[in-house]
Amino acid sequence: MSLIIGVLKENKDKRVAITPDNVKRSKIKDATWWIETGAGSEAGFNDAMYEGLAQTKSREAILKEANIIVTIFPPGETDLAQIHGEALLISQFRPYQDETVNGKLAQYPFKSLSMDMIPRTTLAQAMDVLSSMASIAGYKAVLLAAQNLPRYFPMMITSAGSIRPAKVLVIGAGVAGLQAIATSRKLGAIVEAFDVRSAAKEEVQSLGAKFVEVAGATDDKGAGGYAVQQSEEYLARQRAEVQARASKADVIICTAQVRGRKAPVLIEADTIQHMRHGSVIVDLAASTGGNCALTENDKTIKVNGVTIIGNSSLECEMPEDASQMYGNNILNLMTHITKEGQLNLRMEDEIVKGSLIKP
Ligand code: NAD
Repeated sequence: MSLIIGVLKENKDKRVAITPDNVKRSKIKDATWWIETGAGSEAGFNDAMYEGLAQTKSREAILKEANIIVTIFPPGETDLAQIHGEALLISQFRPYQDETVNGKLAQYPFKSLSMDMIPRTTLAQAMDVLSSMASIAGYKAVLLAAQNLPRYFPMMITSAGSIRPAKVLVIGAGVAGLQAIATSRKLGAIVEAFDVRSAAKEEVQSLGAKFVEVAGATDDKGAGGYAVQQSEEYLARQRAEVQARASKADVIICTAQVRGRKAPVLIEADTIQHMRHGSVIVDLAASTGGNCALTENDKTIKVNGVTIIGNSSLECEMPEDASQMYGNNILNLMTHITKEGQLNLRMEDEIVKGSLIKP
């Protein structure tokens, strides 16, 4: 029997987990693709674009009959109750943010694989949705800042006078931060960046930005590439360094996160008072508390003339390419876990071991 791969429509997201182009590229032997009616329409892929590649089906049919079900965010409880015991549900369950996730999934008979638990290794790079989505968010954060800034990004020499280039401070030089640096540089800004991982220094410098070092950071090589919690004494020194630079910055892009914990607060309320009127802060860490003390998640506020944008899902604002990239990641994963057109979950495999949160 051929493998049925079902794609659900997202409840609160414009993206879709698999695009027509993803299906076209699939090398999974004899797979049959089912797409929920209207699943791709908000990302720019209407049902007609899937014709000849996937069959349009009802949500109920996919939940009850598909062998693999793919989504971006987990479906609700009513949906989960309909999935049969032999199925595999692939989604982003974020168990590191919500410790009840594993317990909830254990109540159901089907298997669950979390894309955001795939190890951040070179082998799994092509399946890394955290990186592909963070990269879009970093890019969008800079465009959003430029749009809200009442000043230019690039240096301008015109007959009406010269304009100095904007100064951008990037806090956290992981995937989103590095993309924010690259985008700011392309727009002509002068960029400085902070990170606690020593490996970030060279990457920041190679993009033409200055790396601001605060000595004494804890850098744990055993943390899978992730940052670890810093001491309160270190964070206080870092906040002082941020304050000194914030008063000269036009834009601050915040991306500093510690997986499974609240984001470190690195811009205190008092720092905003020292910033230039019209400056913009885009806080991508908003959903885990924010790097700025005044950030409000999913809101844009103005304090003392400074615009503070709290948004941790900017990738949703670019649904077409975001869907294409997410789909490529998920397709690479599915190719890895199938053999001769059938599911082949090898528990000794590092990728399966890390991401199959409900076997
Ligand atoms: P993340 O979203 O968890 O955090 C963003 C950045 O914030 C990180 O660079 C982190 O070091 C930094 N940070 C945390 N606390 C900070 C503080 N107090 N001050 C300043 N910066 C702080 O990270 P991410 O973007 O998901 O990347 C995680 C790691 O995974 C990175 O090392 C990245 O290079 C690595 N990675 C590796 C691969 C691979 O194939 N080997 C692929 C993707 C990502």
